Amino acid sequence: MARTAVLGFPRIGPDRELKFALEEHWAGRIEAAELQEVARGLRELNLQAGRGAGIDVLPVGDFALYDHVLDTAELASIIAERHGGVDAAGLSAHFLACRGADGVAPLEMTKWFDTNYHYLVAELRDGQRVALRAESLEKWRSHLAEAQRLGIKARPVVLGPFSLLSVSKGVSDPLTLLPAHTEVYAELLAELARAGATEVQIDEPCLVLDQSAQALDMFTRAYVSLLSDTSLPVCLATYFGGLDDAVLAGLRRLPLGELHVDLVRAPERLDAVLSALGPETRLSAGVVDGRNVWATDLDQVLDRLDRAATRIGTERLTIAPSCSLLHVPYTAARELALDDELRSWLAFGNEKLAELALLGRALDADAAERDELLANSRQRGASRRKSPRTNDSGVRARAAALTGADLERSVPLAERRAAQTERLRLPQLPTTTIGSFPQTAEIRDARRRRRTGELSEGDYLAFLRRQIDDVIETQEQLGFDVLVHGEPERNDMVEYFGEQLAGFAFSEFGWVQSYGSRAVKPPILYGDVSRPEPMTVGWWKYAQSRSQKPVKAMLTGPVTVLQWSFVRDDQPRQETCRQIALAIRDEVADLDAAGAAVIQVDEAALREGLPLRRAEQGDYLRWAIDCFRLAVAPVQPETQLHTHMCYSEFGSMIEEIARLDADVISIEASRSGMELLEAFRDYAYPGQIGPGIYDIHSPRVPNVEELESLLALAEERIPREQLWVNPDCGLKTRAWPETQAALENLVAAARRRRSMVASQS
Ligand code: GLN
Ligand code: ZN
Repeated sequence: MARTAVLGFPRIGPDRELKFALEEHWAGRIEAAELQEVARGLRELNLQAGRGAGIDVLPVGDFALYDHVLDTAELASIIAERHGGVDAAGLSAHFLACRGADGVAPLEMTKWFDTNYHYLVAELRDGQRVALRAESLEKWRSHLAEAQRLGIKARPVVLGPFSLLSVSKGVSDPLTLLPAHTEVYAELLAELARAGATEVQIDEPCLVLDQSAQALDMFTRAYVSLLSDTSLPVCLATYFGGLDDAVLAGLRRLPLGELHVDLVRAPERLDAVLSALGPETRLSAGVVDGRNVWATDLDQVLDRLDRAATRIGTERLTIAPSCSLLHVPYTAARELALDDELRSWLAFGNEKLAELALLGRALDADAAERDELLANSRQRGASRRKSPRTNDSGVRARAAALTGADLERSVPLAERRAAQTERLRLPQLPTTTIGSFPQTAEIRDARRRRRTGELSEGDYLAFLRRQIDDVIETQEQLGFDVLVHGEPERNDMVEYFGEQLAGFAFSEFGWVQSYGSRAVKPPILYGDVSRPEPMTVGWWKYAQSRSQKPVKAMLTGPVTVLQWSFVRDDQPRQETCRQIALAIRDEVADLDAAGAAVIQVDEAALREGLPLRRAEQGDYLRWAIDCFRLAVAPVQPETQLHTHMCYSEFGSMIEEIARLDADVISIEASRSGMELLEAFRDYAYPGQIGPGIYDIHSPRVPNVEELESLLALAEERIPREQLWVNPDCGLKTRAWPETQAALENLVAAARRRRSMVASQS
């Protein structure tokens, strides 16, 4: 009999209980004990759900109040001096590392692989010492004991030493710490065995990345030593990609209890994995997608499981989700606002548990029994495949008829530049912003009152118009050259468009943790995408009617919409992206026809969508950039097309950025002190660039001199004629007072630079 397992659970809470408890605690309104009790309840809920579904192996220790990566760093006593170092104790020290305090910077936060989860980057220092930390160990021990009290023999989970060090920073070669760090894990395993654990799961997702032979060798040596030291069977868990031959060759030498692989991302690696499996090692087959919200195609998965069972027997097989369920919401059954058909296509965390159990039963069943077990799922799959909602013939015909010419603007960049200069008549170093202005409590409240019906549609629209009036007026007074309307009507840059496009649905409770107490509710892109009606033209027209200066029209680009949604899994992502691009293209054309002289199409997520493995990056960049080009190609030469990217470590990508063929790009650069612009020094970038000089991620107001010197640094790398002056990103998370002050300084800095001849820089 195969067994079933879960690698990790969501933890934010079905109603974001953890978020609210954390915030209450931070505000001083509830004690630590109350927060811990909420957390314990959430863990119990998960374990009960797992047991209720009949899952054989349930995780503990995966839970974290803020971030499991941080917990694992603390477990080895990797704590920055400013957060207390080895003496750090208690929850307040823990949260200091998470959130910082006056004069104490928190740990840096960055994206966890290619997910939208953000982890805290542990800081190593030269001479870093690692040791098992008693307070942290207590977390694993007490969570295990909690499960034991419920009568559940749970499997402790911990992020492995190789991955933890690989995602940390502060020393040039973190892996030199691996041998010492591995000893900490040996001690941890001994403690867990003493506490009654009968096996452990060690996560090493970094094994799916490109690794040097040297790094792999260090990995193998570390695990040879770790595994020879312990009597506990170890499940080595890998996910977010496949294992290449070099990794498998190393793993073959290890006496693993179990190897978990992601067969959703890399089904083609199954045979290679089976061949590399030691005779005593189980296979944990990650066949249910832990990264998406769709019901599993059980027949397809059973094909894979049958193949594995033929080679190693069902008693050596574990059926599992591809990765932790941290990245999906709790339960689709609650989404009663979605129609029955659509809801039946979905599987959130709970539904995935049921799928695992069903797969376990079906694997051992004969053909007739299988037919019976799978009947429901087959019927739902068929309804999804055949539904007109996933097959809009108009959209499909339009996409099929596209040719290379549809990606091209009508004239080349240099010629467009002349036409735009003529039309816009901007000064040197023109000033603009990225789009949003502060989303005040007043705006959020109006949106809420509109939802509850307290505010009529008419009153709400009038309210938004007043907001736009104010923002335009403010920019006029500040002296900006290209204005924006401030985006008060948008709750979120993807949701706003998703709500107006065909093919998107919105859950009520579909929250997933983004970081700490923050959760996002991504749109669900289930069907063929089209744009029934203009989405932004009315707002742009209104804003432009309030000013003689050009008002930039703002859209979200196709790659970003794709990247920040739960995307249908029944066709390649690039096809879905192309449909979104066509819908945005319609909007771009309408804005152009309405007279917008400047249009910005944000691709905030272009860089973060880059695949983890180098071998796959070229293909992604090709189609992603093609989709952007498809979306913006129809504008006339004299219309200036901008794009904005947040996370912009371009480095080797600079030529690809040029291939976007945008007239102007604005990027995040202030936090790196314009270092990001190094890439522009050796490459004659043809377009115009606005390197963000005001870091909007902090409430700090930069002074004029500072902004001026950033501009001077920019001018060292990029000719002044190509430079724009703008903040890093949208201002929506900022408050008005600091925004006003910072923008004032920004315009002043631009004016001062203008008054100097370029060579003075
Ligand atoms: N136009 C959006 C804004 O200004 C861009 C946001 C982003 O890049 N994340 O808010
Ligand atoms: Zn941005």
